[in-house]
Amino acid sequence: MVTITHVATRDIRFPTSLDRTGSDAMNAAGDYSAAYCILHTDTEHSGHGMTFTIGRGNEIVCQAIRLLADRVKGKSLDSLVADWGKTWRYLVSDSQLRWIGPEKGVIHLALGSVVNAIWDLWAKVLGKPVWRIVADMPPEEFVKCIDFRYITDAITPEEALQMLKKEEAGKAKRIEEAEQDRAVPAYTTSAGWLGYGQEKMKGLLQDTLGKGYKHFKLKVGTSVEEDRTRLSIAREVIGYDRGNILMVDANQVWSVPEAIEYMKQLAEFKPWFIEEPTSPDDVFGHKAIREALRPLGIGVATGEMCQNRVIFKQLLQQGAIDVCQIDACRMGGVNEVLAVLLMAKKFGVPIVPHSGGVGLPEYTQHLSTIDYVVVSGKLSVLEYVDHLHEHFFHPSIIKDGYYTTPTEAGYSVEMKPDSMDKFEYPGKEGVSWWRSEEARPILEGERI
Ligand SMILES: [Mg+2]
Repeated sequence: MVTITHVATRDIRFPTSLDRTGSDAMNAAGDYSAAYCILHTDTEHSGHGMTFTIGRGNEIVCQAIRLLADRVKGKSLDSLVADWGKTWRYLVSDSQLRWIGPEKGVIHLALGSVVNAIWDLWAKVLGKPVWRIVADMPPEEFVKCIDFRYITDAITPEEALQMLKKEEAGKAKRIEEAEQDRAVPAYTTSAGWLGYGQEKMKGLLQDTLGKGYKHFKLKVGTSVEEDRTRLSIAREVIGYDRGNILMVDANQVWSVPEAIEYMKQLAEFKPWFIEEPTSPDDVFGHKAIREALRPLGIGVATGEMCQNRVIFKQLLQQGAIDVCQIDACRMGGVNEVLAVLLMAKKFGVPIVPHSGGVGLPEYTQHLSTIDYVVVSGKLSVLEYVDHLHEHFFHPSIIKDGYYTTPTEAGYSVEMKPDSMDKFEYPGKEGVSWWRSEEARPILEGERI
């Protein structure tokens, strides 16, 4: 028996604002950060979960993780995973903590970190990667992982069970494909950050094209002229008729009519979709944008800041999106993601997870594999950003334009101890980068 004995959090921040990695129309200077939940046990195993932020405020998430994780201290792993849906409900049921959500915002980011740490621990104890645990589950057990409260008007447990049973037929073959690293094609955003100059962008596009990528995403939303220039350069490199696909991402900067007008002026570059055109909460706004852009052949995508399964339910029910961009840790971890995978399957919308952040490709490779192998049975694509992977014990790897399916036990986000010490905030004097002279421009600079 494995019992959780104590819980630790770590506030880890990488100074990516220095070279504008991650920059977009809304987030000019992010420091890719991870709020860690580490579950220690009475065995050699420990569970690592994290949620992603972009710097300031990461300490607030760590504090919320401490409060939430207290609910699993002293519990056995077996008791937590025996009825996962019930455990998830238990974790959102501290009424006083619930008040500062409910099921959204900081407390929900913290939940993602805690829930994913339990999955990581479970996977390590079973000696399997997380995707494989789910792939090996009978449909009944998959359905039991989900708290169906608030979504039964879109999907019932019985319906979910039928859907999963139907996909069982081809599952063994798809597991084989996963084992041959052919389950998750990748797309890249690495070239497309807004703060990168034209030459850097062009070089990175050529570089990623050479590595076998077929999908490329660029940030847009500061000025039409600039975006037209950037998209022309991108199309010069990737062409229009070579099977390469372009996507654009506005990171919520527009109101609904602005989004429509702006995108009309970028239509000639033939993007597959516009991502986050407006507020992530605006279900009907996304629907209006989708309807206006459909005649131009441009789809609408969102999800990275979609706060929970309820908003996803509405986006899907209303026909507001063409692409569903789940995030591994903005929602309440694996279990809530599974609920959204099922709803997306029911409404026929492809899953293209959000992966632009530290640790996110490590997580989402499992989720996309689960979607392909167990739920949708259809190949999709998954974002990949080539930053900061060296800090992880088991980094995600791209080969020939596909994610290499993870085989190591766990959920792949355990960071090397040296990296944690070096980038801990505020960290120890003489150890942490944040205590060095180099950090001063960020710590004392203008806050944007
Ligand atoms: Mg995005």
